[in-house]
Amino acid sequence: MYVPILIAGPCSVESEEQALQTASEIQHYMQESPNFQFLYYRAGIWKPRSDPDSFEGLGEKAIPILQKIKTQFDMDSCVEVAQPEHIEICLKAGIKVFWIGARTTVNPFQVERLAKTCAGEKGLTVLIKNPVNPDLKLWIGAIERFEKQGISNIYAVHRGFNIAEHPKYRNIPYWHIPIEFCMARPNIPLLCDPSHICGNKLWIREIAQKALDLAYAGLMIETHATPKYALSDANQQITPYELSQILKSLHLKTFEDKGKEELTQLRNRIEDIDEQLIFLLKMRLNTVEKIAKIKHQYNLPLLQPQQWKKVESRYLEFARQENIDKEVIQEFLNMLHVSSIQRQQGKD
Ligand code: PEP
Ligand code: MN
Repeated sequence: MYVPILIAGPCSVESEEQALQTASEIQHYMQESPNFQFLYYRAGIWKPRSDPDSFEGLGEKAIPILQKIKTQFDMDSCVEVAQPEHIEICLKAGIKVFWIGARTTVNPFQVERLAKTCAGEKGLTVLIKNPVNPDLKLWIGAIERFEKQGISNIYAVHRGFNIAEHPKYRNIPYWHIPIEFCMARPNIPLLCDPSHICGNKLWIREIAQKALDLAYAGLMIETHATPKYALSDANQQITPYELSQILKSLHLKTFEDKGKEELTQLRNRIEDIDEQLIFLLKMRLNTVEKIAKIKHQYNLPLLQPQQWKKVESRYLEFARQENIDKEVIQEFLNMLHVSSIQRQQGKD
């Protein structure tokens, strides 16, 4: 059975009252969501903020609050760590679940320092958010740095990418990156953080559903007893009741062995189509070589932007008529063009 993990809790611990109230309500409403397994209470105590005058977390002062959450609700807290001292403080207090934030994952020196601080510690769990920029290798590299220090209980967290304005989301999801991540590291469970992708509570459900449709291992959702008074990320936090309503409405895929025959037929068809695609590509490349010979014979330039523009606009028009995603075709065309030029230069 597919029972996704849930990590929920406030963006930041703001006071004992806020943190305990939120934990208590989460515990209450999770009883109504047996389809999810509650794993950790997320609780930011050191907050990476753009504006230095904004609330930067309670820091070490929040540790006794997290300990109370453990004794009163038997919930393990999960804390963002960005400095070796953060890890040392947590370990002294018996907190053994950390997450590495998106602004830290971008920096291999810092990730290395954090991973070394964890070396030799038993029973740690580390969640590694994707870097703010869409760089799969950087994300995987951060994970490997922890693995090299003997940490084996690792989760990856997809929280979107912050490279340009998006009309709807705070961070662009770029689903192809977590999909490639799953292909590259299938044994690392991948979680989705819809709160930081969306930046607004309105879209959390739709992003969570997309992640579950891709069989993510679970979700991390910012949850606050009174979001409108939150000191950070107020727009994207939801109450524990709202969380329970979202969880109830999510549709979970099955991992049962169903639809096997239809799938086999369609997969065979895809194999045939792929074979034809390779054959067509080969024919195209052979034709490119003939063109190269003629250009060489008449001393014509290999790169002819006007001609390529014509090819490109024809393609994009076909794609539009066939309702194929423009970005996909554009990327395919760019690869095709580079490879054609390389063929004409005599190297592939
Ligand atoms: C957070 O989880 O509160 C946070 C700051 O996340 P991110 O690193 O994804 O921005
Ligand atoms: Mn946040």
